[in-house]
Formats: sequence, structure tokens, C-alpha cells
Amino acid sequence: MRFPQSSQIRVAALALLAVPAGIIVILLVAAYSSATGSPVASSIYLGALALVISGMVANLLLLHRLRCAECGQRVAGQKTFTDPPYAEPIFGLIGSNSVLLRALLFAKFQCMHCGQRYEL
Ligand SMILES: [Zn+2]
Repeated sequence: MRFPQSSQIRVAALALLAVPAGIIVILLVAAYSSATGSPVASSIYLGALALVISGMVANLLLLHRLRCAECGQRVAGQKTFTDPPYAEPIFGLIGSNSVLLRALLFAKFQCMHCGQRYEL
């Protein structure tokens, strides 16, 4: 079945990736700064921090909107910390992160609650 909100789930996945990307930039810049002793422009820190925060906010907002057309539950949302019945792990990630990564990398995923398969 084609997922009706395919562009939104792609944006949610990219927003998810923006968070670790921003954190890595902050750590690299901090390491460079302390190793060389040269000050780094604060705009780099602020830009990376803005990337992290906006990624988190966009991800959370979209996760609430992305619903399974079959069972009506959030395709990338878990109510509990136990694994949903149809979760498909990828790279050691389970649940919402694996759904978003699969959507981004393979353009298909399955609802972790009812098992409905979707293509983007
Ligand atoms: Zn479902």
C-alpha cells in the first residue's frame, strides 16, 4: 500500500538525522577549538544547536501526525517501552527510529502495530 503521508515521513526521518549530525558538529568544533587553542566563532555553535533543536521539534511534531491508514495508530510512535508486535529492527534500532530509517533508506516500512506494509 502506498503511504499517504510519504513526504512527511521523509522530512521526519531527515529531522531525526539532523539531531546526531548537529551534536557531532558541536563535538568536533569543541575538540578542534581545545586542541588548537583557537577560538571558534560562536555562530557555528549556535547554528549546530539550532539544527539539533529544530530537528527534535520537527521530528516530534511530525511523529504525532503520521498515522497508519489501516489501524489508525502512529506509525512511528510507541505507547510503551516494550517492542511493538511488528517492529522491524535495523542497525540495532527498534520502533520509531527503525520505521523512519527504513522509510528513508528503502522507501518502504511496515506499521509496527498492525504489520501493514507501506511504500513511499
Ligand atoms: Zn497499523
